[in-house]
Amino acid sequence: MKTKNISRRQAIKRMASVAAGAAVCGQVPALASVLSAASPADEDGIPQAGPTVSTLQMEDFPLVYEGPDVVFHKLNDHLWVGNGHLMYNESVYLVEGEKSALLIDTGTRIADLDKIVAQFTDKPIDVALTHTHGDHAGSVGCFDHFWMTQAEGIRVPRGYNGKVSYMENGKKFDLGGRTLEVFYAPGHTADSVLFIDEANHIGISGDAFGSTNLLMNMDVSVFVKTARETLQMMYDKKIYYMLPGHFDGTNAETTKRVYDLMNIAQGVLDGKLVGEPAQSNLNRIYTYQGVRFNYSDKRIR
Ligand SMILES: [Zn+2]
Repeated sequence: MKTKNISRRQAIKRMASVAAGAAVCGQVPALASVLSAASPADEDGIPQAGPTVSTLQMEDFPLVYEGPDVVFHKLNDHLWVGNGHLMYNESVYLVEGEKSALLIDTGTRIADLDKIVAQFTDKPIDVALTHTHGDHAGSVGCFDHFWMTQAEGIRVPRGYNGKVSYMENGKKFDLGGRTLEVFYAPGHTADSVLFIDEANHIGISGDAFGSTNLLMNMDVSVFVKTARETLQMMYDKKIYYMLPGHFDGTNAETTKRVYDLMNIAQGVLDGKLVGEPAQSNLNRIYTYQGVRFNYSDKRIR
């Protein structure tokens, strides 16, 4: 596939016209067809999506495991999502290649998670975290090795006795015929990352863009930079959807979502947007089209 050289400014400008509704939905394959690889990317297509990102429900996908701690659905032949219920619908993803598989996140507390995911694939399974919050790293103890990101203030989950490896920005997990690339996306936390599957036009994004409820634990300006870089990456690599850390079928992250969040954050930073007061250490919430941006006045910098 040829790559077009356009400047970041041009890309953001094109994004702006997309997000403003200039070409909403026209070239965007539905999430279902992206997951089934039934919709190859249009060479000139802009990855985008309208306000309604997906009409899918989790029930639209085959239920493959139901236990006390987690329910797994099969998104396609090589991709499964498990949802826990101890926090809010916290998601783990199993991605399978021809020679190995990668489990992304481990939920809050899922007994025998290693044995559950081994039912879906006969390939060796490695583990990587989108970030180390308790609802994503909780069951990492089921595994004797995992990958995380090094960042200021970020520690290995308490009590973990196995081997830890650290992911650099741009690290590639080659699963055999399927590659996931790590993309740093700080904002929600310092260690937040995305896993990008360019060939399949999809990413797995943890809480980096919030699953419609973004909790901004870092400086707002950090997130503005992350959102801008992510938009450029999604445009360059034609990433249509990113499956979030609390996935319910309807709330995959899109360029429109990232663009809207970037604008909200920039507006907050500029003093042009002010959220409603909230009873939390994140003491304000700005709501736009059903998406909540939770932030602290102390972090407006
Ligand atoms: Zn989190």
